[in-house]
Amino acid sequence: MILVINCGSSSLKYELFTLSDECSVANGIAERVGVNGGTEAVLKHRCGGSSRETRTPMPDHAVALRQVLDALVGCECRALDSLDQIRAIGHRVVHGGERFSESVVIDDEVIAAIEAMCELAPLHNPANLVGIRACQQLLPRVPQVAVFDTAFHQTMPVHAYLYGLPYELYEKHGIRRYGFHGTSHRYVSGIASDMLLERGLPREEQKIVTCHLGNGCSMAAVKGGKCVDTTMGLTPLEGLLMGTRCGDLDPAVPLYLMDQLKMTNKQVDTIMNKESGLLGVSGVSNDMRDIQRTKAENPRSQAALDIFCYRVRKYIGAYAAAMGGVNAVVFTAGIGENDPPLVAQVMDGLEFLGLYLDPVRNAQPKPNSIGWDLATDDSPGRIYIIPTDEERTIARDAKQLVAAL
Ligand code: AMP
Repeated sequence: MILVINCGSSSLKYELFTLSDECSVANGIAERVGVNGGTEAVLKHRCGGSSRETRTPMPDHAVALRQVLDALVGCECRALDSLDQIRAIGHRVVHGGERFSESVVIDDEVIAAIEAMCELAPLHNPANLVGIRACQQLLPRVPQVAVFDTAFHQTMPVHAYLYGLPYELYEKHGIRRYGFHGTSHRYVSGIASDMLLERGLPREEQKIVTCHLGNGCSMAAVKGGKCVDTTMGLTPLEGLLMGTRCGDLDPAVPLYLMDQLKMTNKQVDTIMNKESGLLGVSGVSNDMRDIQRTKAENPRSQAALDIFCYRVRKYIGAYAAAMGGVNAVVFTAGIGENDPPLVAQVMDGLEFLGLYLDPVRNAQPKPNSIGWDLATDDSPGRIYIIPTDEERTIARDAKQLVAAL
C-alpha cells in the first residue's frame, strides 16, 4: 500500500492506494488540527463507499496522523490489516525552489532543503515538514518521497521565469517565477499527450495548454512534454483570477493601498489573497457555481465571470504565441471539469487558433473516463476535459522511487 499525505497548516489530507495498480482504497481529511489546542478537530474518513466523522482532540499533526492510521486499520472495511502493509509514503510539498525538478526520496539533506525553502512558502512548506516529521516518528521504517508543486515548471526558460527586477534579487533571494499545481499540470498534460499521440501527433511536436481551474487557478504551456511557461509566479497569487485571489495586478497597486489608503501590509495581503477574485468582484461568493447562478441578476457576478474567462482566453493566446501554435487545450479541476458554459465562454473566439468547440459534446453529461474530447471532428486543435489526479500521481512517483531503492 502507498499512503499519500498532503499537510496544510491545520489539516492533514490522506489517500491510501494499492501498490500493484494504484487503486484508491480509502481517503479523508483531519481538519482544525492544532486550532484552539486541537479541541475542535474532526477526522472525516471514507472507505469502501462509506464515510464517518470522528471528533477527537488533535493538538498537532503527529496526533492527527495517529488518528488517520488508526482509522485505516480500524475501519469496518479494514483498509489495512496492519501498518506494516504501508510500503511507501508520498508527500505533497509545495515549494521545491530551483533545487528540485523531480520527486525525491526524503533524507536529512532533502529535509534541510525543504526547510531552507520555507522563506519562499511560509504558509505551506513548514506544514509539509510537520507531516514528514510525523510520519518519520510513527512509521520510521517506511521510505518517504517528496513530490513538489513547483518541480514540473523547472524546465521554464530564463525569459519565462525571470522578473524584470534587479538581477541580484534573483541571485541573492531567489525572487523569480516558480509556478505551482505542477503535479496536476504534469498529469493532465501527460494524458493529453497520449490522446494526441493516438491521433498521430508525435510527442516532441505537441503543444499543449493546460488550465487547472479550481479554488486556485493556473495554466501552463507544455511543449514537447516540457513546461515552458505558467501563470503563477514567486507565489500562487500571480496570473488568473481565482476564488479569492486577485491574480495579475499592477505591482504599484499594493504600494498605493499602503501609501494612500494607509493599509498595513497584512491588510493588503489579506485583500489580495482572501478578499479578491470571484468573491471580491462579485460580492457574492468564491464559488463559481454561485457566480453562474447569480450572474443574470447581479452585474458584479457577470463581471467576475467575464474577467475569469477573459484571462484564461488571453493566456491561451499568449501560450499559443510562446509555443508557435497549440494542438490541445486541457480543462481540469473543480471548475474546469464541471462547467460547460464556462468552457464555451473561454473558447468562444479562439477558432482562429484552430480550436473549434463542439457545443453538443461540451453540453453532454460526462460518464467516468480518463478524459473527453470536446472539439468538432474536423477541428485541427483538440479541446480536452481531463479530471486531474494529483494524489495518484504522487502515489506513482512514490512507488517508482521506492522500488528503485
Ligand atoms: P478544486 O479546487 O479543484 O476542488 O475546485 C473547487 C471549485 O470548483 C469550487 O470552489 C467551485 O468554484 C468549483 N466547482 C465545483 N463544481 C462546480 C460546478 N459544477 N460548476 C462550476 N464550478 C464548480
